[in-house]
Amino acid sequence: FAAITGLFDDGNGNFTVKRKPDRNFAINLLFGPQYHKEKVNIMEPIEEFLAAVELRMASESKALQDRQTRYLWYAILLIIISTLMALIIASYVRKQIISPIFSLNHDARIIAEGNYQARCKINVKNEIGSLGQSLNEMADCIELDINKLQQMAAIDELVGIGNRRAFMKSLELEVERARRYGNPLSLLMMDVDNFKSFNDVYGHLVGDEVLKLICNVSQKALRENDLMGRVGGEEFAFLFPATNIDSAIIVAERIRIAVDKSSLVHDSEKLQVTVSIGATQLVKNDVIEEFRKRADKAMYKSKENGRNQTTWF
Ligand code: GH3
Ligand code: MG
Ligand code: MG
Repeated sequence: FAAITGLFDDGNGNFTVKRKPDRNFAINLLFGPQYHKEKVNIMEPIEEFLAAVELRMASESKALQDRQTRYLWYAILLIIISTLMALIIASYVRKQIISPIFSLNHDARIIAEGNYQARCKINVKNEIGSLGQSLNEMADCIELDINKLQQMAAIDELVGIGNRRAFMKSLELEVERARRYGNPLSLLMMDVDNFKSFNDVYGHLVGDEVLKLICNVSQKALRENDLMGRVGGEEFAFLFPATNIDSAIIVAERIRIAVDKSSLVHDSEKLQVTVSIGATQLVKNDVIEEFRKRADKAMYKSKENGRNQTTWF
């Protein structure tokens, strides 16, 4: 532009030298080979610089990308490890805590419902395991106490054999069993003769001793599977499983004679009592009540006929 207006470089970069405007010189400057050479000289380092920048950017971007990929893998690894750990912890908590608690709750409820034979089946070795063990120990104690109470409730305090309730239960069971297996079953009712008078003369305490003696003597006359119970004040009953009336009469007589022969020494006096016995055998279609009443009737018949004897229906 300076050359066109007639101004030229003074050699120091100042356009102060005035000459005739030179349009061709100006065009040569802009499009001539010198211009291109100079331009190439200028552009070469710039392009090198740009290429270097590009190369550096590419390598930095690759490094960044590599780092990103690495971090991504770290994150994935971390997620996998955390998930695995969460699964392991969940499985541990389930196995060691949640399942045992459910099981403990279930077993405790069964025990609380009255099934005192039930026990907790927890085999973990932690606080829940020891809680289960304590619950089992508690159930052991309850079961033991209940068994004791049941035994106490079934045993007659004075003579130490089954009481009326226990005998009636045995009667039901034996009737059922006899029916199921088609076996005979015999029942005896035994009542001490004139026991009121005996008590009046010797006192109630001596009467008690006589009842114990009768009980002992009778038990000795029984066979292995025979059952005996105290069903009233001075009334005893016997059940003879797998025994017909003929055999029952033999045992009844053995008892009666054994009582008759026994005696209690009191104030150097030999005290003796007798018993009256009624015997009967279970018949087809018998209801328990009829079976029992028939034995009672037979016993009263013995009383009517003079006591100290066995009658059977
Ligand atoms: P029977 O021959 O007709 O059976 O006459 P009994 O006197 O035995 O009959 P009763 O039913 O009139 O009297 C039964 C007596 O048994 C009355 C009661 O004093 C006595 N007795 C009942 N339980 C006991 C007991 O546990 N101990 C004692 N010592 N006596 C009892
Ligand atoms: Mg009586
Ligand atoms: Mg009597």
